[in-house]
This record gives sequence, C-alpha cells and structure tokens, in this order.
Amino acid sequence: MEFVNSAGFARQLDEQDELKIFSDEFLKPQHNGKEMIYLCGNSLGLQPKAVQLKLTRQLANWQNLGVEGWFQGDEPWLAYHQLLKPTLAGIMGAKPAEVTVMNSLTVNLHLLLVSFYKPKGKRYKILMEGGAFPSDQYAVESQVKFHGYNYKDAVIEVMPREGEHTLRTEDIVAQIEQHADELALVMFSGINYYTGQFFDLQAITAAAHQAGAYAGFDLAHAAGNVPLQLNAWGADFAAWCSYKYMNSGPGGISGIFVHEKHHANQEFDRFAGWWGYRNDTRFKMAPGFVPEVGAEGWQVSTSPILLMAAHKAALDIFERTGGVAALRQKAIRLTAYLEFLINDINQQAGEELFKIITPKNPDERGSQLSIICKQNGKQFFDALVKNGVLGDWREPNVIRLSPVPLYNSFTDVYAAARFLAEAVHQVQF
Ligand SMILES: *Cc1c(COP(=O)(O)O)cnc(C)c1O
Repeated sequence: MEFVNSAGFARQLDEQDELKIFSDEFLKPQHNGKEMIYLCGNSLGLQPKAVQLKLTRQLANWQNLGVEGWFQGDEPWLAYHQLLKPTLAGIMGAKPAEVTVMNSLTVNLHLLLVSFYKPKGKRYKILMEGGAFPSDQYAVESQVKFHGYNYKDAVIEVMPREGEHTLRTEDIVAQIEQHADELALVMFSGINYYTGQFFDLQAITAAAHQAGAYAGFDLAHAAGNVPLQLNAWGADFAAWCSYKYMNSGPGGISGIFVHEKHHANQEFDRFAGWWGYRNDTRFKMAPGFVPEVGAEGWQVSTSPILLMAAHKAALDIFERTGGVAALRQKAIRLTAYLEFLINDINQQAGEELFKIITPKNPDERGSQLSIICKQNGKQFFDALVKNGVLGDWREPNVIRLSPVPLYNSFTDVYAAARFLAEAVHQVQF
C-alpha cells in the first residue's frame, strides 16, 4: 500500500479499520484534559474498562462467600485459572493443557530453569541473545552460578555483526551448531525488548533440538503481539508477562507453557508447591508430591484471584477480536505507517535524524519501532511528552514507540510523527 503523510489519509485508514471499535474498550490516560496518544503498550498495556467490573465481581464474591468462594459462586476460585486457558492457548499456539497462569515472569523463568536447565558433564552452557532483558540475564546468571558455573564461561551470547543492530537467524543457528556438544539450553526472547526484533523461534527451536539442547523462550514482548505456534514449533517451555501487550495490569499474572511431549514425565525436577499437586487428590493433603499432568503441575501457590480476574477481562477482548491473528494485519500496517512517517521526517531533513533499528521485514517485528536519535534524543522524547505522546525512553538515545492495534489508530500514529517533525525545528542542536 502507498502511504501518504497527511491527516486525511490517516483518517481514511481509520475509517476502513474494522477493529477500531475495540479502542473504546480501553481507558485512556489524560494529558492536559485530552486523551494521551499512548504508544507505550510494549511496557504497560492500557486498562480495559471491563477490568473494574471483573474485580468488583470477585470482591463481591469474597464479601458474600468468604472462604466458600473457592468452591461456590458464579466463578469458583479453585478453577478460575481454567477460565483463562482456552484464550491463552489460542494466543500462544498451544493446547490448553500446555499453558497456565501463575506468579510473575522472572519467578516463572526460574521455576522453568529448575526443570529445563540440567547441566551435565560437558553439556552445561546456555546460549541466549546478547542484550537480553536485564532480568533474564540476572536469572540466567544466578542459575548457572547455582549449579557451580560462572556466567562468562557458561553463557554464550549471540551478538549482532559489526555495524548491525539485530541478529541474523543464520548466525544464531551457526552458533548453536558450533557449540552443539556444550549446550544444555537455548533460551531466547520472542521479541527483543530493545530492538523490537521478532526472532525466528521455529528455526531456533529446530537448531537447539538438533544440537541436543532444550529450547525455551521469554515471550514478554511477543505474547498478545505476534502470532505464535509454540506447540507446532516444538518449543520445550516458555513464560511471559500479561501486563505488556496483554493489558492485564501492572505486575499482572504471568503465564507459562510446557510442551505436551514433557507431560508424561513425572520425574522432572521442579520446585513444587501444593497448587501443582494432582487436582483430584490435592485436598487429601497427603505427604509426597504428585504433580498434576501438564503445565499446571508447575504451579506452586494459591491462585491470586484478583490478578486473574483482571487478566480474564483483558483476554476476553482478544476472544472477541478473533485472537492475535485477526489483529496482525492492522498491526503490520500501523507499524509500517509509523515507519513511513519517520522516514519521511528524515527525508525532509535531508539527513537520518531518526534511525529505526527494528527490522524492516514485518515478519521480523511486532508493534514496536526502536528509533536511535542521531542527537538530542531526550529533547525529542520530552517534546513528544509535552504534546501528550507517551512512548518510552531508553538511555542513551533510543525512543521506542509501540502502536498497538487494539487501541491505537492511524491518526494516533500520524499525530505522534507530526509532533516529532515539529520538534525537529524546536530542539536545540
Ligand atoms: C518485561 C520483561 C520482564 C519483566 O519481568 P518481571 O518478572 O515481570 O518483572 C522480563 N523479561 C523480559 C524479556 C521482559 O520483556
């Protein structure tokens, strides 16, 4: 499609957008009495209006039923997580038994690493992307240390080539092959938080398995953002948070995936708790841990119902859109339009003031552009904020803008780029 840099063109795209009705289901932060242009869904997704209702309902159940709420009421808490699984499985490309919700993301990474990082003899290394999200680095660092190794030796980070910002799949695969007999695990993010690169998880999984290693993924920036097929790709495990593209609230409950091929194995090492115990006999309170079959066997603690209720409200919206696949076409177009507008600013300026480091290929990115400002980045970011455009800022010079198809419009994207273009004349060089 040929894009045009004009408000009228953006409006026209909005008029043709069948998904625009969903924007009304979200509460928009305000700036100077007007709705903010919120392009920060990669960090914290907006609040669905239905969240308050869902929470109020569970507060009422708590009020009216007390502890009986676990077994009574319209949505008994004991099985509440089951209500989330069908939609979540759809979003992750998984079977319902392969997913569940529990804890927070980094905690879940640790729990899954307990099961899937099993260093033995020469095979003790973890291969991951260079520049992974800090929490993932710390988790892996402490895990290898826990097993008696040190990070520098036990963790292999795949780095971009000289002069490049993102990784080539062929380089990732080559490194996996090169270290094949030392690898215990390949762990990647689905989408790198900094560059916005969407990795080829299928190719990475295949290469890891070829090397005799497990393949696990942190899907924080991928969940609810890009189509995933965890079951078909054969990934061993994954975890994600629900507060980014899944709009389930700050510190919202995390999700995990464990592939069905591992479900029959009751001998998996894991850090257990009673909420992972076989459902049918859990309340016999017998000694000796027996895991529930499937991802639920990794659960540890009592369900946080209020977090789950917020998650349910947010997942219901995905259910009504027809899942992530139905959002994808708009997502691709929205991001491409932003890319076009930013490149147009460079064109007008006669120099590359804003360098987009996120891959150009729509198959290698989601709803995010990471933009390196040639100079005065923070001033540009502040100029956007002053005009009610909220993206996010990463030191030393990167602005990340995330147009989310569920609640952002083409007019949002146009206005954000317009303010950026105006700032070019205002920022002091
Ligand atoms: C957002 C994010 C996290 C955050 O983890 P929490 O445990 O929820 O604080 C971790 N890893 C990645 C890759 C992320 O994008």
